[in-house]
Amino acid sequence: MSIVYLGLGSNMGDRADNICKALELLSEHMQVERTSSFRETEPWGYRRQAMFLNAVCRASTNLSPREVLTLAQEIERKLGRKPGFRNAPRPIDIDILMYDNKVIVEPDLSVPHPRLKERAFVLVPLAEIAPELVHPEEGKTMKHLVSQARGKETVHPWTNPDPNPCRACRTDAKVNIRQLIMADYEQAWRLWHLCKVPVGESFERAAVQRVTEHDPDLCLVAELNGAIIGAVIGFLHGGHGRVCNHAVDPRCRGRGIGTMLFKEVEGKLIAKGATEIEAMVPVTSLEGRKFFEDQGYVEDGRYMFMVRQYQQERHRADV
Ligand code: ADP
Ligand code: MG
Repeated sequence: MSIVYLGLGSNMGDRADNICKALELLSEHMQVERTSSFRETEPWGYRRQAMFLNAVCRASTNLSPREVLTLAQEIERKLGRKPGFRNAPRPIDIDILMYDNKVIVEPDLSVPHPRLKERAFVLVPLAEIAPELVHPEEGKTMKHLVSQARGKETVHPWTNPDPNPCRACRTDAKVNIRQLIMADYEQAWRLWHLCKVPVGESFERAAVQRVTEHDPDLCLVAELNGAIIGAVIGFLHGGHGRVCNHAVDPRCRGRGIGTMLFKEVEGKLIAKGATEIEAMVPVTSLEGRKFFEDQGYVEDGRYMFMVRQYQQERHRADV
């Protein structure tokens, strides 16, 4: 197996979607193990064109460098790239940045990519996922090269809307359920809005901060490839538990992530003594209602709440 780093760029159409589709097509032939975050960059060379979106990925593969080039060109064509001049607008550009420690100099294939060391829009995301990777010709790490690169001010973080975390990776990438920390807040907040979770005070930074300080193990997120794709917050007052802000990125549905998150927080609430748990879900949200109905919750007449008693089961478990 060899390790290949690819650079992806798009400045036509739905740029994030083009990059995600390219990653998906690459994944059919190699194992895409990591993708950098996406960055918006001002065009180089021919400047009178739209901003680029750029990302890099790391993949392991049995394909030779030339086979990777052929695959990249097939994907570029498939996603609608027309032959144009160098640096022309394109739905997708896929460059081989590095291939193991190989140095290849052929008329139509140079590895490492000849412009890698001077292009901030490649070095910045590459240093993000592989800071210690050494450029075989320069003998310097990516971390070092990026610190010297010019034009970093033309490379901007890109967060809106965020790339599809499910598609931008192998579909069997592991989902990590962990405690929510305040550094996750912006992403979680976007998720709650995206999912139209009933807006309430529990959304606000100060409120989230309070619960994470008070009961950190009741505030959970699901993380996939570095992106927050699910969240849930639990509260406990006496024996009354409450579950709210339960959300899963709509693009990552169907993997049981919502159930995983819910079971985790439910188990913790019961362990801490909850005998009744109410779920905050507007009765008008058919999807939310169905989810909680499937978990044994019933409407209790209040607009936002579905409730389930746990007392009897606890007694049964005690016997
Ligand atoms: P650029 O990526 O510099 O904007 P193009 O994508 O239009 O320019 O250039 C494509 C040409 O570059 C292809 O014909 C390909 O053979 C050649 N090439 C040389 N080395 C590489 C490499 N490492 N990765 C991708 N293409 C390469
Ligand atoms: Mg190219």
